[in-house]
Amino acid sequence: MLIDGHIHLENGPLSEEYVMRFVDAGVKMGLDELHILDHTHRFIEFSPMYEGLKKASSYQKEWFDKKHPEPLANYHRLIEKMKQKELPLRVKWGLEVCYAPESKPLLKKVLNAYPYDFLIGSIHSIDNLLYDMPFSKVILWDVYDTDALYRRYYEIMEDMIASDLFTQIGHPDQLKLFGYEPSYDLSATYERIARAAFDHNVYMENNTGIHYRYHHSDMGTNSQFLAILKQYKVKIMTASDAHVPEHVGKFIREIAQL
Ligand SMILES: [Zn+2]
Ligand SMILES: [Zn+2]
Repeated sequence: MLIDGHIHLENGPLSEEYVMRFVDAGVKMGLDELHILDHTHRFIEFSPMYEGLKKASSYQKEWFDKKHPEPLANYHRLIEKMKQKELPLRVKWGLEVCYAPESKPLLKKVLNAYPYDFLIGSIHSIDNLLYDMPFSKVILWDVYDTDALYRRYYEIMEDMIASDLFTQIGHPDQLKLFGYEPSYDLSATYERIARAAFDHNVYMENNTGIHYRYHHSDMGTNSQFLAILKQYKVKIMTASDAHVPEHVGKFIREIAQL
């Protein structure tokens, strides 16, 4: 069973035609199941979560100001329409939620307003500073201590898993994307995360986007972390993080074998 558990509609309209391009790509790649989603910053209801980021840096303000969020209802109309169609493979529908501990009250409310097949919690910022943008070196990586950033990142992840808001945790070691490595051994951290993921019954992603989108030598989650997750019997979800139809299923066959 081949699943691509993380596919974005970000670069196109919320339309049946656009979704079908992903479905066709999935069929071509020989996949059995697609999990389609988009970032919470696409939707107006989540806008208050991004105010702190906009205030924290002018780079971030400029980036978010270019977005034109739309109501969640548009997405759910599309989901309902697609669920009535006969499709050549199984499609599930969800969101990739940009998680920060202070957003919990808003998330509880907004996520409960509609049903989802899955919800992915992902950390994209550390205390209001994005770590995965071209400008992140200037505002974060070259300013703060790398070890402190790793400690805080995994502290937020533990909080996110314990929130029980999510069925899946996105790209769990993506902090490595620009090659800033901590000086301490992360095995104890990985074990804490693995125990929490098992206890709260969430999938941990093996996400190949780090490899082909950020050119990191790892194909997905690092082998030390993966080995610990398996040892703790945590469920693993294979994911491409595709942002265009051409990337659906990218390296999924390779990581599914691991
Ligand atoms: Zn993400
Ligand atoms: Zn993503």
